[in-house]
Amino acid sequence: MVETISHFVGGQHVAGTSGRFGDVFNPATGEVASKVAYASRAEIDAVVRNAVAAHEVWSNTPSPKRAAVIFRMRELMVANKDRLAQELCKEHGKTLADAAGEIQRGIDVVEFAAGAPHLMKGEFNHNIGGGIDLYSIREPVGVIGGITPFNFPVMIPLWMGAMAIACGNAYINKPSERDPSAPMMLAELWKEAGLPDGVWNVVHGDKEAVDALLEHPDVPAISFVGSTPVGEYIYQHGCAHNKRVQAFCGAKNHMVIMPDADMDQAADALIGAGYGSAGERCMAISVAVPVGEETSKALVDRLVPKVQALRIGPYNDPEADINPLITRQAKERVESLIQRGVDEGASLLVDGRGATLQGYENGFFVGATLIDQVHTNMEIYKTEIFGPVLSVMAPCGYEDAVQMINDHEYGNGVAIFTRDGDTARAFSNSVDVGMIGVNVPIPVPMAFHNFGGAKRSKFGDTQMHGPESIRFFTKMKTISSRWPSGIKEGAQLAFPTNN
Ligand code: NAD
Repeated sequence: MVETISHFVGGQHVAGTSGRFGDVFNPATGEVASKVAYASRAEIDAVVRNAVAAHEVWSNTPSPKRAAVIFRMRELMVANKDRLAQELCKEHGKTLADAAGEIQRGIDVVEFAAGAPHLMKGEFNHNIGGGIDLYSIREPVGVIGGITPFNFPVMIPLWMGAMAIACGNAYINKPSERDPSAPMMLAELWKEAGLPDGVWNVVHGDKEAVDALLEHPDVPAISFVGSTPVGEYIYQHGCAHNKRVQAFCGAKNHMVIMPDADMDQAADALIGAGYGSAGERCMAISVAVPVGEETSKALVDRLVPKVQALRIGPYNDPEADINPLITRQAKERVESLIQRGVDEGASLLVDGRGATLQGYENGFFVGATLIDQVHTNMEIYKTEIFGPVLSVMAPCGYEDAVQMINDHEYGNGVAIFTRDGDTARAFSNSVDVGMIGVNVPIPVPMAFHNFGGAKRSKFGDTQMHGPESIRFFTKMKTISSRWPSGIKEGAQLAFPTNN
């Protein structure tokens, strides 16, 4: 009998009652490691009711007291880094070194959230007329639904959840059903940090659970991270139910390599950004765009031996570079896209299909793959592959590179490698992309800056973490205040002005 993962509601583990479960795999062996309960509409309603009650208390808790809980969570996360990494990796499959980076980024957000009282200060104008003071305050929104993807099961629930509760909201995380254990451990750590029961909840499930959150009248806001088709649905369906919604979605991130770039640096950057976490990152570089024939040759000559040297392996093998993909379906999809590229005329320089490892023959591995001479009309260029596959475009000019980036439906991240400041500046001004790296391949902003893409990589107006998150997780009230001693005139029927 495999273990069954329950929900976390009102500060306790609560067994699922819907009778529906999903399989959670060990991606390195392909075996079912556990089962996770899928919540029904009735179970979602129960967790929302619990969170509404918890929100009453938490939203009225002084913000420095809330910050103290968040600071304790930061300390607990630091102390439990290794345990969290094990919990994360056994289901996701990423290497322990990669998980350590993800967890640190999560800690960074918690640390930033502890400073929320400063960012929630509001605005005040003294004496704007006739003894009147005018001020704006930021209040929590209520119960926030947070729907998160499989690829960062610690960092992304914290991106939104830490900021949401720091602002005085209650949070219901519906994590990916593929790797539900690390989000459960986060909930346990919040409880240990002293967060009142019901402020941070975890419910598992599929579309039924998500739809119940999207349609629930007592959930005024939804924060989503995941693929574009699902994000678009969540944005439209949530807005149709009068919620504020932000949805951070899929990507196809280009890296332009100018002829003056340091080619060794550029090749190393592509290896890290293209193949780290087996390409299962929304900020992975999946397209290299060499400017000019010579750049293309110099780059590809360096890339081929480096890609061939990358080793597949399970998360606890310190020598492993490439982890297994999350599911068998993901492996099959990536392999079929590689074949599609070959069929469409691209040049397959390193083929990672069929990669096997003794003792892990049924794992969901795809080896590092390099495809050259890719063109914009090919499916492997248009689609987010989300695997260890780097496409090198047929060489083009700088203007063509910018055009290609702007024509792509996604606009999450982009990078340029060059020694020329003018080019880098012009590039940053020209591309319609949310996050730009100049000689930085994965320009994921730190927690105190805002994160977010452009075009179909994001739906909604606000960004993730950074000062913008305060806008999403609070609503503003503006108060005009005059004390009786300041009232000089009698009744006035004309519209009030300052004159
Ligand atoms: P996904 O869209 O399949 O799932 C995300 C969440 O939505 C999960 O909790 C899932 O259970 C739920 N979901 C799935 N199908 C649904 C449906 N039909 N109706 C309602 N809910 C549904 O994404 P994933 O495979 O878990 O994650 C990978 C994707 O996430 C990639 O596209 C990646 O680029 C994207 N991503 C984006 C960012 C970003 O910040 N832009 C960050 C990480 C991942």
